[in-house]
Amino acid sequence: MISKAKTVGFQSGERNIFFHILTACNLSCRHCYINKEQHGTETLSRETMEKWLELFVAPGKKSNVIFLGGEPTMHPDLVHGISKAKELGFDVTVDSNGYLFHNLLETSSPEQIDFLSFSLDGPDSLVNDPIRGEGVYDICTTNMRKAVAAGYNVSVIYTVSNLNIKHLHRMIPLLTDIGVKRFFIQVIGLRGNSAAESADGTEWQVSPEEWLATVPKVAADAAEAGIHVTFPKVFLEENETFECAGIVAENFFVFPNGRVYRCPLCEDHPVHAFTINDNKLIANDGLTEDNFFQLDIAEGCVMNKLLQPDTIAYDKLGKPVHRISCCLLKQELLPE
Ligand code: SF4
Ligand code: SF4
Repeated sequence: MISKAKTVGFQSGERNIFFHILTACNLSCRHCYINKEQHGTETLSRETMEKWLELFVAPGKKSNVIFLGGEPTMHPDLVHGISKAKELGFDVTVDSNGYLFHNLLETSSPEQIDFLSFSLDGPDSLVNDPIRGEGVYDICTTNMRKAVAAGYNVSVIYTVSNLNIKHLHRMIPLLTDIGVKRFFIQVIGLRGNSAAESADGTEWQVSPEEWLATVPKVAADAAEAGIHVTFPKVFLEENETFECAGIVAENFFVFPNGRVYRCPLCEDHPVHAFTINDNKLIANDGLTEDNFFQLDIAEGCVMNKLLQPDTIAYDKLGKPVHRISCCLLKQELLPE
């Protein structure tokens, strides 16, 4: 039986803080979205990390902190930041490229890290390594196995593009074998390196037809195999309501230069809604991403229309064939 994916509406009272504690990384993935001109080159000090975490404490609300980079495990004080986040009541996820520097598995614990997430873009080195770098597959999967053996909840993020969509289904036996609990299927966004490569002619983006023919089926199969799967909605049905997370949800994408965005598609542009200055969170004046969120267009997401117009198809009357959902709207399939 094929499972039916459920759209996970934006939860009022839930906050997600995507906390980039540095932009340095040991890898140079071809689709990396980190843009040092826009996001800075700083590594936050231990004290700054603590103070910035405190800015996002909201009593009575469920709040998640996702530690990101660059590669967050390269930060010598990551474990300290994790403990501080737990002490402040946050649920904690660490998103790693799999290298797990500073002996993360031994220096932290499954009680401190609710989910340890690994980025992997292929079911073998032949698919993954041309995207993420030579030797990365072996190191990442070896450390995933170690993390599972040490009792961590392990999840995997797979960024779907033209370079790997045909291999997505082969992730299921791999994830099952390793003991991965959650599988996050992402869609490639044209930001950072992938935007630059696209301009040079690399076709990263998958067509709506291929996405719809592939991703929901693989997600259903993964759920049947016992894995909790999350994937972006992308194309809204006729009867579905469009909602912009910038208006109805509380997401904060925090960068080490102090920029704080509400929308990930805005991150290549100086339109951030907030800035952290002197350890205070200050709402910016003038033209910010907030102004874009208010625009009501037939295509759905305004930023997608501005930045990735090729993702939108129109019928003969000039009406969009699909409205594009907010990139943060997810569908979910629970294990059977
Ligand atoms: S691991 Fe992440 S931060 Fe590092 S290069 Fe790859 S995508 Fe960029
Ligand atoms: S991706 Fe689009 S819909 Fe979502 S927050 Fe950004 S502008 Fe709003």
